[in-house]
Amino acid sequence: MGARRAARSRDDPNLPLTSTSSTTRVDVEVDPCGANGFFLDVVITGHIDVVCACCGEVYAHALDDDDEEEESNFGFLAWLDPNAEVVTSSGDHEVFPFPRSVEELDLTPIIADTIDFGLPSELSCAPCRVDEPESWSCDPA
Ligand SMILES: [Zn+2]
Repeated sequence: MGARRAARSRDDPNLPLTSTSSTTRVDVEVDPCGANGFFLDVVITGHIDVVCACCGEVYAHALDDDDEEEESNFGFLAWLDPNAEVVTSSGDHEVFPFPRSVEELDLTPIIADTIDFGLPSELSCAPCRVDEPESWSCDPA
């Protein structure tokens, strides 16, 4: 039995100071494609912890937050192709090599990238958003 890894140091600048109980949910629909391939339809919903650009507080940002009933921006279509050799993109699908010798594919990095890519570069928590109305006004000089 090995010793447990020590908890990450608080000095780690990437570690949020506080954490919310946010959860992220990933739904994957899998369709076989040919003998050894699969199509994946991945949809990510829920909340992730982000740091507010205004006040620095950590808050749970809803990934499918919008009032409009739009689909979540966070998702992708993937094709696990037994004949592919490199990760490419084909039309709407991200193509991932999935040779017969491979038993599983870890989607975590892809999902993390998808969330990263889909988030605006600056996010602010609800109280800060109230302070900063989205309508723009031109103040006369
Ligand atoms: Zn804030």
